[in-house]
Amino acid sequence: MSDGATSKAHSGSPWQAVALTLFPDMFPGSLGQSLAGQALEDGRWTLETVDIRGFARDKHRTVDDTPCGGGAGMVMRPDIVDLAIRDVQDKTGGKLPLIYMTPRGRPLTQNRVRELAFGPGVAVLCGRYEGVDQRVLDAHDVEEISIGDYVLSGGEVAALVLMDACVRLIPGVMGSGRSHEEESFEEGLLEYPLYTRPTEWQGRTVPEVLLSGHHGNIRAWRREQAEAVTKDRRPDLWKAYKAASE
Ligand code: SAM
Repeated sequence: MSDGATSKAHSGSPWQAVALTLFPDMFPGSLGQSLAGQALEDGRWTLETVDIRGFARDKHRTVDDTPCGGGAGMVMRPDIVDLAIRDVQDKTGGKLPLIYMTPRGRPLTQNRVRELAFGPGVAVLCGRYEGVDQRVLDAHDVEEISIGDYVLSGGEVAALVLMDACVRLIPGVMGSGRSHEEESFEEGLLEYPLYTRPTEWQGRTVPEVLLSGHHGNIRAWRREQAEAVTKDRRPDLWKAYKAASE
């Protein structure tokens, strides 16, 4: 995305994150610290939580029920989740993409993160128990996103991951505007290895080329290293990178 598009997307209101959750106290969590926390304090982005349990109507404030068809665990009820979603849509004018964090979702990628970071924000539904009744996801055309092939106990940590990845791309959040342009995934490759001082540590030295001051050679070495590590560790990324460069 060009700088022009970046500044346009952020010229109005700050990037907005909303978490629909049964555990509002899990937010901002790690996002209240470091650069994201400072940016939150500075109003570069906003974070709101919507307590799904607040929409339960019985005296036990029930939000779940047993799975139709049998099986273990409980399922979050569509009527309760629907009320929480409608509340968010009313408050935000329905402008935020609605995302459900789930292992069944499409894997989160840096490309999708970039698109979301340069949009108005995200509303993220955090599942608990066995997950959410499919009908409410279908009714609201919810995008389903996974943060990896493993199962967490709830969607809150996954939502924090998604928000963290987006927030650090908001202009002004990270120190240097250039630093994320050279990171893993930005050009379809993993990052080259990093070194700092001391130049010798426990008998291990920094590769000579990095101390040479020759920018062309450094660039070439880094590219070579990035290609080698991608080929070795991520055949899926390597295949896509090769196809794109051919
Ligand atoms: N029964 C679900 C399954 O087999 O796919 C797992 C449910 S998990 C115990 C509870 C919640 O954690 C999910 O509804 C989802 O919101 C969240 N979650 C767990 N793993 C996740 C992942 N890899 N990516 C995103 N969200 C995840």
